[in-house]
Amino acid sequence: MEKIEKTVITCKKCRLYRTATKAVPGEGNPNAKIVFVGEAPGFNEDKQGRPFVGRAGQLLDDLLREIGLKRADVWIGNVIKHRPPENRDPMVDELRACRPYLSDQIKAISPKLIVPLGRFAMAEYLSDAKISEVHGKVFRVLEYAVLPLYHPAAALRSEAVLRELKSDFRKIVPAFKAPLENLPRWGKAAVPDGGEAQMLLFSF
Ligand code: URA
Repeated sequence: MEKIEKTVITCKKCRLYRTATKAVPGEGNPNAKIVFVGEAPGFNEDKQGRPFVGRAGQLLDDLLREIGLKRADVWIGNVIKHRPPENRDPMVDELRACRPYLSDQIKAISPKLIVPLGRFAMAEYLSDAKISEVHGKVFRVLEYAVLPLYHPAAALRSEAVLRELKSDFRKIVPAFKAPLENLPRWGKAAVPDGGEAQMLLFSF
């Protein structure tokens, strides 16, 4: 894990290092069973080199506390390790360049449950999914359970999203405890209209 972090800190594989202040490799328990994956560092993360330390991070801490977890219990990282200018969406080539870091970090941690926060993190695990359809539903992806949730920053902008996020957070512990074999694999037809997720196509 330390080796990956060192590589991230000196990474120049895409343009983002030029405008960023500090890389944000991620932090937390290297043996965590639950991992949270956000999109990219924002203003405060870029200054401190730590993930989720701004307002969205404060909300994440509160939500964790409400379900009896602390930052030290979990690992928190991002898909993109350097802040995009003005917090713009990551570009395809930036996502491609950064992808191996998160993938190596997840392999090193070997968690049971991955919680992608927001659509960019979700897309790393559930291709072609819509966050509005799959948030709060748990899937099996390779040897992981994956529970996509709305991004805390989106919850800060909308009361309705905040309510959904709070309610979805209560699914984290049950998702963590669920036997992997019982979880539906992600596939195009995994979420039929208004219905429960079913066992379907294996999409990768
Ligand atoms: N938003 C993210 O997606 N990641 C952070 O680290 C902070 C805010």
